[in-house]
Formats: sequence, structure tokens, C-alpha cells
Amino acid sequence: MPNDHDVSAFRRDFPLYANLDRPLHYLDNAATAQMHQSAFDAMRRHDTQARGNVLRGNHRLAEAATEAYENARAGVARYLNATTVEEIVFTSGTTAAINLVAGAMGYLLRPGDEIVVSLAEHHSNFLPWQRLQEQGVVLRVLPLTSEGRIDMSLLPAIVGGRCRLIALSHASNVTGAITDLVPVIAAARAVGARVLLDGAQYVQHGRPDMQALGADFYVFSGHKCFGPTGVGVLWGRREALAELPPFMVGGGMVGRVALRESTWAEPPRRFEAGTPPIAQAVGLGAVLDWLVGQPWEQLRSHEEHLFERLLAGLRNIPGVRLLGPADRRERLPVVSFNLGELHPHDVCQVLDERHVALRGGHHCAQPLMEFFGVAATVRASLAAYNDVADVDALLAGLEHARQVLA
Ligand code: PLP
Repeated sequence: MPNDHDVSAFRRDFPLYANLDRPLHYLDNAATAQMHQSAFDAMRRHDTQARGNVLRGNHRLAEAATEAYENARAGVARYLNATTVEEIVFTSGTTAAINLVAGAMGYLLRPGDEIVVSLAEHHSNFLPWQRLQEQGVVLRVLPLTSEGRIDMSLLPAIVGGRCRLIALSHASNVTGAITDLVPVIAAARAVGARVLLDGAQYVQHGRPDMQALGADFYVFSGHKCFGPTGVGVLWGRREALAELPPFMVGGGMVGRVALRESTWAEPPRRFEAGTPPIAQAVGLGAVLDWLVGQPWEQLRSHEEHLFERLLAGLRNIPGVRLLGPADRRERLPVVSFNLGELHPHDVCQVLDERHVALRGGHHCAQPLMEFFGVAATVRASLAAYNDVADVDALLAGLEHARQVLA
């Protein structure tokens, strides 16, 4: 190995690996990563020792629950290097967070206002914006370069004076391509538009710094960064959140409710109507505290080494068509490909029989599939607990699939 990352020690803290009754080569990390022990422990502790509702309690359990929930918010703020904890809104995931921003912004937008997305977006960062067309908002779409990266040379032509927001993925869930944010932020600032980054894929492989990135909104899901399902985060720059009205209304987010008119709480409460995913937030806070202390350089170089081996192996298999950038630079360890004319679902099934877990389909990115001229792909996505045996099992399995499905 080119670095000191000890995969088997790292794996020991992922209970799924400890409880396996069969081999597993889990390469579907872009869909959901396995959960780290810290999240299990924190959620169990919470639900056995401090389970109560948050904010409205008059007893010790409810106070303990509120404290745990707010500590989790502080943990997320630390992880993201946010300016204040008030910039952290808990949601049920990336999709919910983007719908929240789109729905809230929808109240402020006027016909003719423009939202810019790219052709490479996950449907979760496409449909909430596309839907605003119903109220006269114009959706403008950044095209891609021939290898499937967002074509930044077209920013000046697409981002005009009516642009109110640019919404892009920090990294693609299909190609792993990391978005070059510098020109995006500059283009938005030039016209006074906001920037939303979909960090669903990025957070598993790096620690995004809210003060350095220069965006206004950043969203991600717990389950993709070794945390629980059912929880996610919307980070919003303080002034960006302050100008948004609530999207969902209900308990816990009000100032005063009267029969005809009501007032709203300040952010982040304004955006957390109803009982939030308390235990899941506590689990996410714990996993991010663990992630903060990880040797990121080591993890990244381990992933890069595996990814290089995977790409080289794929290139050697006759009939494999790789989609997206040709090399691993500025890219997460995520690769989409097709094996001749074989259907991705068939390929995944054959690989599953050999205990290799992959994803086959359109990956909730149909406009991108259309760009590549395919209906679906096979996708392999690596995490820091993967090892050479996982990559080699995939490559051998693809050779096998080629023979049995031909
Ligand atoms: N955005 C990207 C880039 C994703 O990869 C995903 C999930 O695959 C999502 C958004 C949606 O995340 P969730 O289903 O956790 O809301």
C-alpha cells in the first residue's frame, strides 16, 4: 500500500462488517455508505437515556434531548466550519433541504427571474428548480464538456442579470467529477445571485469549509457520510437564511400564532417545523465529530490508489465504455460504465451473486444519461473502508459477467 491507512482497523468500527455472514464487496457507497459505530452508540445512548421531545419540554428528559440535539447542531457547525450554529438547519436529507430552499425562495421569486443548474445534476437538485417554472421562473441549464464536466466557459452566457441562484452539485454522483467552484462563485457574485451546492457526494470524501467555499447554501445527507438515514443538513449563510420565509409551517417554528396572522421564529428554527429527526441528528453529530479527527490526506490517498487500480482494470476489460472524465484528477472515486451492450441491471445481478454490491440504472440523472447517449450505467463507488480485494472482486466479476451474459 502506498500509505499507512489500515483498512481492517478502519473497518472494525463499521458494525455491518463485524456482523457479516458472507463475503461482501460493498461498492455502492455513493447511494449509501455504511454507518460508523459512533452513530450507533450515540443514537442508542440518546434513545435509552435522553429520549424526549426538543424545545417544548418542562422535564429533565426533554431538556436532555434538547441539549443533545443542540450539541449535534454545534458538531455539524464545527465540521463545516460554519460561522455560527444558527446557520445549521436539520432536515431529513439532501432532497428535503433542496426542496426547502426552492420552496422558500419560490415565495420571493418573480416571473422572469432565473435559476441556473447544470445538465449533470441529480434529480433532487433539478426537479425542485424545474418546478418553479410553473410560476414563471426561467430555468437555465449549463451544458457539459465532451467528457461530462460542467462547461464553465459558458457561465458568462448563461448567468445573466435576472439570475437569482446557481444550484450545482459539489461533485457528480454519476462521474464523481468535482465542480470547479471558483468561476461559479465569481459569476454569481457579479450579478448578486445566491449559490447552492449539493454536497451529497462530496461529504463522504472531504470536509467542505463553508467559510472558504463562498457559497450561500450547502446541503448533504447523513447516510452518505457514514451517518444515519433520515437526517440531513442545510447550511445557509446567516443573511441568506434570514431572507427566506418558511417552507413548512407547524409546531416549533413560530414567533406568535394568532387567528389571522402569525410570525415566524428566527433561523434555524424557522425551517424546522414539527418534531425533527432528533436521534438521527444526534447520530450525525457524533459521526461528524469522528470524521473531524480523521487523517483526511491518508484516506484520500488510499481511495486514489484504489481508484487508479479500478480505472486501469476497467480499461483492460474488452467492451467497457467509461463515462465521464478519463482520469481521476478533480474527481471522487466514483465511476460509471457500461459493459458492451449488456444491461446494467443484469451486470449488477451477476456481480451480486459474487457478493459485489454495485448500482445500475440512471442514477437519478436522466438528463446526464441522455447526454452520454445511454439509458443506464453500472456505477462503482469507493469508500475509505474498501480495499484492493474489493476492486479485484469487481474486475474479476465483470470478466465473469462478460462470459455468462454474452
Ligand atoms: N444529490 C446527489 C448528488 C446525490 O447523489 C443524491 C443521492 O444519491 C441526492 C442529491 C439525494 O440524496 P437523498 O436521497 O439522501 O436526499
